[in-house]
Amino acid sequence: MRDMTMVTNAQKANGTGNIPLGAPQQDHELSIRVRLSQALQMSLDPTEVVSLFFHQIQPLVHISGVIFKSASGKDDSRIGRESLHHCDYRLTTDEGYLGEIIFSRSKRFIEAELMKIEQLLGALVYPLRNAIRYQSAMRLALLDPLTLVGNRAALNNSLKRELQLANRQHQQLSLLMIDVDYFKKINDDYGHHRGDLILCEIAKTIQSVCRSTDGIFRYGGEEFVVLLNNTNSLGAEIIAERIRERISDTHILHNSTVIHTTVSIGIATHKANGNSEIEELFERADKALYAAKQSGRNRTFNSDYSDKN
Ligand code: GH3
Ligand code: MG
Ligand code: MG
Repeated sequence: MRDMTMVTNAQKANGTGNIPLGAPQQDHELSIRVRLSQALQMSLDPTEVVSLFFHQIQPLVHISGVIFKSASGKDDSRIGRESLHHCDYRLTTDEGYLGEIIFSRSKRFIEAELMKIEQLLGALVYPLRNAIRYQSAMRLALLDPLTLVGNRAALNNSLKRELQLANRQHQQLSLLMIDVDYFKKINDDYGHHRGDLILCEIAKTIQSVCRSTDGIFRYGGEEFVVLLNNTNSLGAEIIAERIRERISDTHILHNSTVIHTTVSIGIATHKANGNSEIEELFERADKALYAAKQSGRNRTFNSDYSDKN
């Protein structure tokens, strides 16, 4: 693997950076490079930036596939088709390691082509870094800083998207509204800091029960919302009960005192071919949650069946 920060210097040192070209070919190559630089500034989506790079350089070096493995693992992309022969580079800026990029094709790469790829990579590094930075800022803006689940803004985005998807694909979508029972008393008895740690523990427990495709959000102080896509009312009830039981079974030790918390959960489901609005879905879940609280807490209550546990 080659290190991209070292490549430019190496080229200068051994004088192989400039491959002799005739004038028309030089003009052609120059215009491709200019277009490449312009195109790469157009997007703040890392996958799109890598894809633009892949397509734009084809006239100069034919490549069948490119894989980018980002340092964080969160901005990976795979464009085209992977083939037998590879060349790979570590992309680094003065701020650190960006990731590894791997080009492949069926024909072996020759040295002059490798030199060309290395030169072209110079145009990719900073636009790609900007796109990765932007995505990371966007992700952070949608996270609740305490529990690291989605925040209210993320919930609004997801709910709109999931409801549209459910309508288009005639699928059901369930919403769980989870509220910690008597949380004010926990703060009063053990302090706000311990209360914060318990909220983190509850978020982790919810995550441990849900699928990776389910959306988990902190809706407010001690309230969480879970979006269960492609899940009917009965399925949602099973998940809600699992969450309730798991939290009720968790005991947290505080200065040799065991803290026991419970949650109440309200369930509402958007039916396939139904026409629920976001507000209406929330209202139903909220009413069900209220009913769960009224019936004694540490309960799930389904707005469809009005069955209590
Ligand atoms: P109920 O069973 O009716 O839900 O009772 P409750 O005490 O949980 O409800 P209430 O709405 O009276 O109190 C919610 C408490 O949650 C009060 C507030 O101080 C606490 N809270 C809200 N956000 C946070 C937070 O970020 N950290 C901590 N530690 N506590 C919080
Ligand atoms: Mg509350
Ligand atoms: Mg509460």
